[in-house]
Amino acid sequence: MLRTNTCGDLNVHDVGKIVKLAGWVQKNRNLGGMTFIDLRDRYGVTQLAFDMEINAELCDIARNLGREFVIQIVGEVIERSAKNLNIPTGEIEINVSKINVLNESKLPPFTIENKTDGGEELRMKYRYLDIRRDPIKNNLILRHRITSKTRNYLDLKGFCEIETPYLIKSTPEGARDFIVPSRVNPTQFYALPQSPQTFKQLLMVGGMDKYYQIVKCFRDEDLRSDRQPEFTQIDCEMSFVNQEDVLNTFEGLIINLFKEIKGIELSQFPRITYKEAISTYGTDKPDIRFGMKFVDLTNLCKGTEFNVFNEAELIIGINVKGGSSFSRKDIDKYTEFIRSSQINAKGLVYCKYNEDGSFKSSVDKFFNQEQLNNWSEACKSSPGDLILIIAGEESNTRNALSELRLLVAENLEIRNNSEFAPIWVVDFPLYEWDKESNRYHSMHHPFTSPKSSDIDHIKNNPNDLIADAYDLVINGNEIGGGSIRIHNKEIQKIIFEHLGFNQEEARNQFGFLMDAFEYGAPPHGGIAFGLDRLCSVIGGKESIRDFIAFPKNNSARDTMIDSPSYINHEQLDDLNLKLKN
Ligand code: ASP
Repeated sequence: MLRTNTCGDLNVHDVGKIVKLAGWVQKNRNLGGMTFIDLRDRYGVTQLAFDMEINAELCDIARNLGREFVIQIVGEVIERSAKNLNIPTGEIEINVSKINVLNESKLPPFTIENKTDGGEELRMKYRYLDIRRDPIKNNLILRHRITSKTRNYLDLKGFCEIETPYLIKSTPEGARDFIVPSRVNPTQFYALPQSPQTFKQLLMVGGMDKYYQIVKCFRDEDLRSDRQPEFTQIDCEMSFVNQEDVLNTFEGLIINLFKEIKGIELSQFPRITYKEAISTYGTDKPDIRFGMKFVDLTNLCKGTEFNVFNEAELIIGINVKGGSSFSRKDIDKYTEFIRSSQINAKGLVYCKYNEDGSFKSSVDKFFNQEQLNNWSEACKSSPGDLILIIAGEESNTRNALSELRLLVAENLEIRNNSEFAPIWVVDFPLYEWDKESNRYHSMHHPFTSPKSSDIDHIKNNPNDLIADAYDLVINGNEIGGGSIRIHNKEIQKIIFEHLGFNQEEARNQFGFLMDAFEYGAPPHGGIAFGLDRLCSVIGGKESIRDFIAFPKNNSARDTMIDSPSYINHEQLDDLNLKLKN
């Protein structure tokens, strides 16, 4: 071995030992008589000391070592006079007797320290250097621990990890596919899987009973800052289960991860129906770390001369605890926010409950103190609080107030990253109506079963059907989602009809699944968790990119390897592809 210990190992108990270390030069400090080097590896930093008086030649070599040179040293562990109690190795240093330069390094384009001077773009281009920094390195280690604990838990529960293919068949349902041309089958294409959904169902038909896979999935969607074209799922499926069994099994997984990784004991997760989530929080991924639940003020607010309210389909408000101290400027900022093109609400009405018991609102011209008092009672506000109200068309108003709720909470710093509030959202509608294509779309996916109580009237009433589908939300982030599946060929056929597939289309795309359902498909259901997001939530950070070793940027590019890239004519010819001029 090139080393006897790592750079994170040694402490006062090792004083007197002769050790061999290897790593990168993080810092080199020449203090005249003494030179100190911080030597770094994955495990930590150890200080190396060189004394001019003891060995001038060695000291000279040390002084000339540049940042990120890779060196190996031999020396004696000694107790430091100036101790650094912030790091585990901070009470010792190595009195070096031998240096071996294993490799030189160009000056790195940014400092490899916890706080770096490198911007995101530069760090992405030199990701291998970024990974040397603690924040990224620790995220990758956290990710490893999460996957390893996940495997342990699922193994213990009898799940079997099985790989499914990456080169599959394109289907127009869901997001856009990434396409791979087939050279040996000219003019034909594979698609990369958006998820192993149909394969895991086929594994259930195959009798595998409990499957999981930590698996890459690919979706060619327009990018948002928290989306990656390739991402990882913890994908799971079980046979002979109902919704309750799936929720319990995977609630157990999440509880186990938080306990093992964060030392946090989560109690039983609350559940909320989709309908309740939308009416209480305006979203199907509610952040329940704080209150500010929606209060419907539609009836209380109508019937004055204030036409904005009279004409509104829905009038809803939230009570902001202690918000009466918000300045005019604060409120103007919130008004601006909800009027912005991304939110697109008309305006914001406020009502302050002053400490002296009186009310001050932005619509005092139209509402008297008694009416404002009624609002305040409905919102359960107390002196010192502030009610914020939005009115308009139903779904947009809910969405606007939901965004406003999050922003206010953010500014009040009550979205605390070290607090974790999981919640199951259940009873999703089976379909949503898509105005553009003028047809139903599956809210989850076409293999999701309607609730057994709904199956009897499945033929007449697609709009009202509720699915056996569920999402796990933590702190306002969708962490996972799944459903009980259809295992009956006739029902699957009706669902495809509702979704506007004619028989031939259904056969072409999903014939293999329908065929499989003819051979004794067991009742089954499952779930998939977004691993990247789960890591970022457990890690208490916003960005998922920092938890992916080699992520893509906002334009879906990997700037380090410079991909995607053009391919040459021979390759195109081989694939029977021509570029459009
Ligand atoms: N395949 C689904 C998805 O990727 C998850 C599931 O239903 O298990 O969203």
